[in-house]
Amino acid sequence: MTTTPDIGQRLPLLFLGNEADPASERGVSCPGELPPASDPRLVERATAAKAALGDRVFVLGHHYQRDEVIRFADVTGDSFKLAQQAAARPEAPYIVFCGVHFMAESADILTAAHQQVILPDLAAGCSMADMATFDQVEETWEALEDAGIAADVVPVTYMNSSADIKGFVGRHGGTVCTSSNARRALEWAFSRGSKVLFLPDQHLGRNTAVLEMGLSLGDCVVYNPHRPNGGLTRRELADAKMILWRGHCSVHGRFTKESVDDVRARVPGVNVLVHPECKHEVVTAADHIGSTEYIIKKLDAAPAGSSWAVGTELNLVRRLAAAHPDKNVMFLDKTVCYCSTMNRIDLPHLVRSLETLAAGEVVNRIQVDEETAHYARAALDQMLALP
Ligand code: SF4
Repeated sequence: MTTTPDIGQRLPLLFLGNEADPASERGVSCPGELPPASDPRLVERATAAKAALGDRVFVLGHHYQRDEVIRFADVTGDSFKLAQQAAARPEAPYIVFCGVHFMAESADILTAAHQQVILPDLAAGCSMADMATFDQVEETWEALEDAGIAADVVPVTYMNSSADIKGFVGRHGGTVCTSSNARRALEWAFSRGSKVLFLPDQHLGRNTAVLEMGLSLGDCVVYNPHRPNGGLTRRELADAKMILWRGHCSVHGRFTKESVDDVRARVPGVNVLVHPECKHEVVTAADHIGSTEYIIKKLDAAPAGSSWAVGTELNLVRRLAAAHPDKNVMFLDKTVCYCSTMNRIDLPHLVRSLETLAAGEVVNRIQVDEETAHYARAALDQMLALP
């Protein structure tokens, strides 16, 4: 087995602007001049370029995007809903995806051949998706074959993974899942094999298996791709039901049990509402757990005067607090917790995308090669066919 460099070496921090990391899912370059962030006409320029494009452009805004970007979105949602919305708009040849790289890849896979998907900043990646590379997962599968258990394993990957990983899973008869259908995906997988390799978010995998399906923590092992055989013995692999990839979200992984205890002490009667990408000790201390769409609906339905501490990305929590002035909606953690890569998509990048498209030039197109797209589509189709 080859030695994988330390993750800190592979994924250097990028400064805001034009830079990109060619070794990650974030893309290969970020060409072109950006308008200065200080330009007071940015809103006017984006409005004019979007109007000039008319129905030829469809702008998607992920829930975690900045307000300055969301205001130009034709639709907002989570990654899968946005990819579906793009596919439902074949009359728009240009899809500007205000989200991160893996989301734009999924949109490219699901949209028609004549539609081009544009990511305003190619360096807008996802640290979680970057934690599972194709080579690492191939090596892992070889390790499972060497351990004599690969035939029993069904791979399941979270939507938050690169097209390469979705393609790997499709090639090996597995499925994609979202945070809304992870339980159904695992039930389906366990009807076909006795073990699941869950990529790349260990927390979503563990929380779903233990809290929704009755597996024990002892049924789960964590596969560390930076160690030979994942750092696991053959016995541990043979006994495990859930083989969890050692990946996590750098935003949701920051919430702690202490932050839950702290808000309960400060705010009597508070409801703690968190995303299943949070650590197991956080979700077990919370009152409600669910996807981004679940969180939005839960707050919509909450009675006036109720208090909510929400553990998800800060841009969304701030918008939810503003949308529910009759409720006491607060951020679960005391420290700022934006998704730094989502935040790379700012108004200057959006203006550049819209203006270059209006001028007939496509900058920062995301295109998945046909073979990868074929197998990734198989894994996505399997998700859509889940009972
Ligand atoms: S919030 Fe987490 S999972 Fe979502 S894009 Fe940011 S790092 Fe990735």
